[in-house]
Amino acid sequence: MTKRIFSAVFLAAVCVFLASAALFMGVLYDYFSDVQCRQLRMQTDLAAQGVAGLGSDYFTNLPADDYRISWIDADGVVLYDNQLATAAMENHLERQEIQQALAVGIGESRRYSDTLLQRSIYCARLLPNGTVLRLSVAQNTMLTLLLGMLEPMCVIFFIAFGLALLLASRQAKKIVEPLNNLNLDEPLSNDDYDELAPLLNRLDLQQKQIRRQENDLQRKQLEFETVTSNMQEGLVLLNRQGLILSVNSAAARLLGAEEAAVGRDILTVNRSLELSALLDKAAAGEYAEKVLKLNGGEYQLNASPVLTDGTVSGMVLLLFDVREKMKAEQLRREFTANVSHELKTPLHTIAGCSELLVNGLVKPEDTTKFARQIYGEAQRMINLVEDIIKLSHLDEAGGDMRCENVDLYALAENTLKLLLPVAEAAGVELTLQGQPANLFGAPQLLSSIIFNLCDNAIKYNRPNGSVKVAIINDETNVTLTVTDTGIGIPPECQERIFERFYRVDKSRSQAVGGTGLGLSIVKHAARLHNANVNVQSVLGQGSVITVRFSKNAVK
Ligand code: ADP
Repeated sequence: MTKRIFSAVFLAAVCVFLASAALFMGVLYDYFSDVQCRQLRMQTDLAAQGVAGLGSDYFTNLPADDYRISWIDADGVVLYDNQLATAAMENHLERQEIQQALAVGIGESRRYSDTLLQRSIYCARLLPNGTVLRLSVAQNTMLTLLLGMLEPMCVIFFIAFGLALLLASRQAKKIVEPLNNLNLDEPLSNDDYDELAPLLNRLDLQQKQIRRQENDLQRKQLEFETVTSNMQEGLVLLNRQGLILSVNSAAARLLGAEEAAVGRDILTVNRSLELSALLDKAAAGEYAEKVLKLNGGEYQLNASPVLTDGTVSGMVLLLFDVREKMKAEQLRREFTANVSHELKTPLHTIAGCSELLVNGLVKPEDTTKFARQIYGEAQRMINLVEDIIKLSHLDEAGGDMRCENVDLYALAENTLKLLLPVAEAAGVELTLQGQPANLFGAPQLLSSIIFNLCDNAIKYNRPNGSVKVAIINDETNVTLTVTDTGIGIPPECQERIFERFYRVDKSRSQAVGGTGLGLSIVKHAARLHNANVNVQSVLGQGSVITVRFSKNAVK
């Protein structure tokens, strides 16, 4: 820009100078022509007086100078000419200046002389004897003037040229300097040029808009990052070609990608063929899902195409852990198999006994025995079905349990009342100690915890054994402890007794009417109350099962 301004100013200065010089030359030329004419007229008048007085003698010894003197008679015949031989000269009557002099006494003209072959000024004066004296001088041409003025003009031109250079360069810098120093961060603080005000206003407005949009974008980006980085699920956004646009930390961990995964092809991050096939499907506009083993776990990958105007512009890959789901499915399968198996045995027994009874194959004195067996097996089935229903309620509707303030001690008293006959029948002493302990929980579930633990403690006890139930109420916890003097649980089984249908000794469990679900119900109900269940047991000596409820454990 500085260069352009410099060139413009410099050119303008040079043009102005040249135009002024041309004008000046023109004016000067006119001025010198006038001066020449006036001098010629004066000389003509002087010479006319001389010729009028002296006649042709005047021309004798007339020094030859720049002037051409011609004497012409009234008929146009040249009587004398100081530069040419009169004999060879044509009649001058028709010359403009001669005509004028003959008419008004003086005549002037400027023209190209055919005789002298140059541009001349002519001045003619009528003499009293009717002849005409004419003086002429070669007129200075513009070129002559120019050549004459060349030296001073050149000096002046070079001075003007230098000045123009200096001024143009200074001016260009001066104009550009404020532009270079414009504060574009705060456009409105610049007030050097009024002409820039609309531009600067516009710039300011656009900057504000950009800042607003930038803030919006940053906020949205932050929101997106906060949400995605805290997601358990992995989330990857890809463009149509499979380049990663965004990847959250969970996905980066699962795919084994470091921080710099953005911008890379996802298949360079994870080379799994299944992943590649999944993304190919999504790129073709189809939703696809697959369970893959990643990082030692099982994850479901959902790949969905992102459609813009009906064409795939990108893909979203969602990865989530399905280990729990798979485990739950596995457990459900096992549970179903176990239930069928558990029901099959009593049903077979019932079917066998009833068949014998129907076919009259049982002796009349054995009928009661068979009927009791059918009743016993049916009772077992009822217990089993009840426990299954309880468990499925806990599985499905555990969240809907109605909680209230419960005194665990009073609840234990009531529950133990139900079990006293059982304990007595087994020859086991059942006692309760402790103090009232208020707890926020579901009374039915808490009761089933106490019932199952005490029922087991009686069932797996020895004759003349004891079961001690204690409720301890301290500042932070309410603890239920059931201590028995029973057969004990082997250390390797202590973890597993809470599994559904797990029994240490199946035949003993069945003999005492166990379903294998009692402790599962305990564990589940305790979990719903955020309580801890702990088992301490010595084989052959007895077990202590503790359930610790935190007082502020509200479901
Ligand atoms: P069950 O209906 O068979 O009693 P549970 O789930 O209540 O089923 O108990 C699982 C298994 O744990 C029982 O079969 C038994 O072997 C063992 N068990 C539970 N409580 C005790 C205990 N107090 N003493 C010894 N063994 C026990």
